[in-house]
Amino acid sequence: MESTVSMDMLVSLCKRRGFIYQSSEIYGGLASAWDYGPMGVELKNRVQNFWWREMTQLHDNIVGLDASILMHPRVWEASGHVENFTDPLVDCKKCKQRFRADQIPEDNMQTHTCPDCGGELTDPRQFNLMFRTHLGPVESDGSLVYLRPETAQGIYVNFKNVVQTARMRVPFGIAQVGKAFRNEITTKNFIFRTCEFEQMEMQFFIHPSEDEKYFEQWKQERFEFYTKMGIRASRLRFHQHGPDELAHYAKIAFDIQYEFPFGWKELEGIHNRTDYDLRRHMEYSKKDLTYLDDLREGERYIPYVIETSAGLTRTVLTVLADAYDEDEVEGEKRVVLRLHPELAPITVGVFPLVKKDGLAELAQEVEQDLRQDFATFYDQGGAIGRRYRRQDEIGTPFGVTIDYQSKEDRTVTLRYRDTMEQVRVPIAELCDRIRRAIREYRRTG
Ligand code: ATP
Repeated sequence: MESTVSMDMLVSLCKRRGFIYQSSEIYGGLASAWDYGPMGVELKNRVQNFWWREMTQLHDNIVGLDASILMHPRVWEASGHVENFTDPLVDCKKCKQRFRADQIPEDNMQTHTCPDCGGELTDPRQFNLMFRTHLGPVESDGSLVYLRPETAQGIYVNFKNVVQTARMRVPFGIAQVGKAFRNEITTKNFIFRTCEFEQMEMQFFIHPSEDEKYFEQWKQERFEFYTKMGIRASRLRFHQHGPDELAHYAKIAFDIQYEFPFGWKELEGIHNRTDYDLRRHMEYSKKDLTYLDDLREGERYIPYVIETSAGLTRTVLTVLADAYDEDEVEGEKRVVLRLHPELAPITVGVFPLVKKDGLAELAQEVEQDLRQDFATFYDQGGAIGRRYRRQDEIGTPFGVTIDYQSKEDRTVTLRYRDTMEQVRVPIAELCDRIRRAIREYRRTG
């Protein structure tokens, strides 16, 4: 039976076990800003590495990039963000609350009444979501810069550099992971929508005639990425953008949505951005960003771009929500995170059955050896069942227990988190066994 998780249960687990804390908590917190604790940073890094491996290591025509957050302000004029990256806002004259006009129920918009207090609403005004700051000591118009609202532009402005220095030929992609900032009006649902977040984006440059083919290909591949990560397919679906949802740069767009505890919501966007961005950067920078295609008899053109744009922090929430499960072991409730073994913050827990009689020493020796290859955690305190349970709760896929027999024949028990099956394994074979189990999981999901 699938158990369903509430956001309260998730938030509480994340706090209790050091995944995610409220930002600046000792000062009462900062709205919608979150910090990743010892377990959370491991999980986030592993999700990122999983994506990076999928997108770069497993494709010989995709390379990486790490562009800066602050860019020349003209970039955001060229990209259309200064003009178009806005949300329509309405204010309640009575309770002074601010809402996104497109998120207010139709009835309230028609009657101009606040959905919270019934007060009168103002007409919608456009509000730009980009954060502004100043570069250098003088706060003047000339020093205005923006915190990037998407990582994509760092890729487009480096298009020529990558072609020339990494000798990439169309079709090829550039992948990047990094922070993005949006002054969102309504932030809620934990880390789902925050003003500071991380994106994992890959921009794929193609000949304009091949846009439909590559769009379809990336759409499928990106969907499969999530099932490979262990997310159940029944909670994933596509949503095609209607004409009024399409971003200013997009010809066609599909979202991959996940069924979160608060409903179906976007996890990743796949967009056909055409030659919009490169063309605009050519106009604004006056630099030639056309591409000379030696495979197409020297045809010169501005490549089209198929963009796959995923939220890293939003994927972390997805992975947690999907992995959360509760079952019963010996009459006791067990919380277990059924994380893909490559995403779990700790891969192997090592436990001496008791501390005395040399078992702790042997267990430490085993752990020291395993930690060369895996993220390990050594725990010798309390009943063994409780120690297993603590690891289940943070998703540790393997547990190794050292008992009296281990001293005699150098074998240990290897326990699997999901089935709770225990098998006897020689210490000398442990590493291999665990590695094979992880590979098997990657193959079968
Ligand atoms: P939304 O409609 O939810 O505001 P969007 O369509 O503007 O999102 P994109 O610009 O396509 O989102 O961004 C790509 C991805 O970046 C999204 O699919 C999401 O995973 C992530 N993302 C966007 N905004 C946020 C945010 N405020 N907080 C966390 N992740 C975000």
